[in-house]
Amino acid sequence: MSVLLIAEHNNKELRPFTLNAITASSQMDNDIHVLLIGNNCGDVAKSLSEIALVKKVLHVEAEHYENVLAENFAPLVVKVSENYSHIVSSANTFGKNLMPRISALLNTSQVSDIIKVISPDTFLRPIYAGNAFATVKSIDAKKCITIRPTSFEACSISGGSAPIEKIEPVEAFASTKFIKREEVKSDRPELGTARVVISGGRGMQSGDNFKLITDIADKLNAAIGASRAAVDAGYISNEHQVGQTGKVVVPDLYIAVGISGAIQHLAGMKESKIIVAINKDGEAPIFSVADYGLEADLFEALPQFLEELNKLNTIQK
Ligand SMILES: Cc1cc2nc3c(=O)[nH]c(=O)nc-3n(C[C@H](O)[C@H](O)[C@H](O)COP(=O)(O)OP(=O)(O)OC[C@H]3O[C@@H](n4cnc5c(N)ncnc54)[C@H](O)[C@@H]3O)c2cc1C
Repeated sequence: MSVLLIAEHNNKELRPFTLNAITASSQMDNDIHVLLIGNNCGDVAKSLSEIALVKKVLHVEAEHYENVLAENFAPLVVKVSENYSHIVSSANTFGKNLMPRISALLNTSQVSDIIKVISPDTFLRPIYAGNAFATVKSIDAKKCITIRPTSFEACSISGGSAPIEKIEPVEAFASTKFIKREEVKSDRPELGTARVVISGGRGMQSGDNFKLITDIADKLNAAIGASRAAVDAGYISNEHQVGQTGKVVVPDLYIAVGISGAIQHLAGMKESKIIVAINKDGEAPIFSVADYGLEADLFEALPQFLEELNKLNTIQK
């Protein structure tokens, strides 16, 4: 039996979390086949075939696979999954949208958001927003698994020469139609994959004050994050939310400004390599996960921080 990994991509490039999912898959079984569903995505097939851990690429193209409609993807995955023991994808919006449908069609119990592969049938996953960990053993013959990308290293993108096998599409799902995509365009790094993230919380007090964060983000080439309280208060739009119900980030540097460190926020950032917290309350829980803590008023600290960055007169890339 082998692993069937569902690739996430935009028909031009592979999404980076697919590489983390490949690493996780390699800990379940060595025989990893990647299912690439899309339209005009030959370049993605080629790049997948060059990954050393990938043994075969199953490539299917059709117009109705151009946009990621889980309703169209799921029946195809189910059809292809016959000879596989594990079906794997990332536990991001892609996997969260797709895998439950596959799992329901296959009548198996999905194991979601795993952070560790203990053995091919046993996995570790956080529960209660990361307050506790459950070790889950799946007795299903076919295991549907989503992995938390930040808990697995990205695999190497070279060293392989896997065969690419073309497979036939299945019919489009009649009741769902793609209408349009609305994306926020930004020159900043993407929040989910940025090396540096600076986030503001309720302590920012207004959307205008986020300018203090933006100026520093410009200097550090950082993505901008936020707590849910800041999003709910309308200071910033919700694609910036970090946490249990927002994005999970694992940058080299995470700077939390005016964020208390509620457990739901920590669930989205506590695996960051270095955490810096600026908060005027020395008892704020964020300090318990911070590598560097500054007990200070952010309205004094951020301008000083910017001034020091300006002296360096450099923009990090
Ligand atoms: C089911 C559920 C899911 C949730 N999901 C998320 C999620 O995904 N992400 C998330 O972030 N939250 C989430 N929450 C909300 C979470 O519980 C907290 O309410 C939220 O994270 C608090 O945001 P905050 O730290 O910005 O605000 P607060 O907790 O109000 O903290 C503000 C902080 O700013 C500091 N501060 C104020 N003024 C200044 C100043 N001038 N200088 C320096 N510091 C200052 C204060 O000392 C305080 O620590 C969720 C809650 C639930 C119930």
